[in-house]
Amino acid sequence: MNFLNFGINKKRKTLRRYIKEAEDKGVAIGHFNISNLETLRGIFDAAKKLDLPVIIGTAEGERKFIGTKQAVALVKSLRDEYDYPIFLNADHTYSVEGVKECIDAGYDAVIFDATNLPYEENVRLTKECVEYARSKNKDIIVEAELGFIGSSSKVLDTLPEGVKITEEFLTKPEEAEKFVKETGVDMLAPAIGNIHGMLKGGIDPALNIERVKQIKEVVKIPLVLHGASGNSSDDIKNAIKNGVSIVHVNTELRVAFRRALEDELKEKTAEVAPYKYMDKTIKAVESVVEEKLKIFNFL
Ligand SMILES: [Zn+2]
Repeated sequence: MNFLNFGINKKRKTLRRYIKEAEDKGVAIGHFNISNLETLRGIFDAAKKLDLPVIIGTAEGERKFIGTKQAVALVKSLRDEYDYPIFLNADHTYSVEGVKECIDAGYDAVIFDATNLPYEENVRLTKECVEYARSKNKDIIVEAELGFIGSSSKVLDTLPEGVKITEEFLTKPEEAEKFVKETGVDMLAPAIGNIHGMLKGGIDPALNIERVKQIKEVVKIPLVLHGASGNSSDDIKNAIKNGVSIVHVNTELRVAFRRALEDELKEKTAEVAPYKYMDKTIKAVESVVEEKLKIFNFL
């Protein structure tokens, strides 16, 4: 228990510090997306139960729904009230303006995703994001993507369009090294056989652990595993052992939320007060997060 030893003054440590500790200890911090308060509660309850730091993510669509400033206010209110290491990340942000908006709103971390643009353009824009973040607050973490893994968090019939799981398609270590040097990002999300979303009726393709290791050896910054929904726990653990310090899960939470809500609505047909028909839904999210956090922390 309490692997990060943050019994006191939890909120005085920055996200950067927690990531460093996770890296040193060979565990990973869980990153879970929200677009509503109920999901946030489920995630927070699970993290609190295990006494682990946690990162809340909102990508562009989620931010549009919940509100950029509202997401900051919600997460900050939990951090302050419970003196708890809960942080907020602007997941997949496709424009420099979007990155700046989130930094200005008070996000702890941002992900600039220009992996679909030509390499030089990706470098130039990512650098601009890094410089902006540094000018505002040196503790803000900037992450970038290199290699395409699809772009939606849903249940898929086939691999996302444009994604191939072949050696050739994965992020190359020398490219990653160059990219990190040129941009100065704090963390990198490479394509290592992972996909956004998860495949219907089965487990996602295996991760290329050797590639994780090779990339980590040259970039020397923490790696982030996106799209871990659908990956086996052994694969995730091996990725963590070889350099992944943050793991993203979204689709599995969405699926758990939806299924539990459908059941609750069927059960409580006459109930109209939302707070009376979402208990099990929040619990369902909590239980997925708890299970994932145990995997990420080898508990
Ligand atoms: Zn992602």
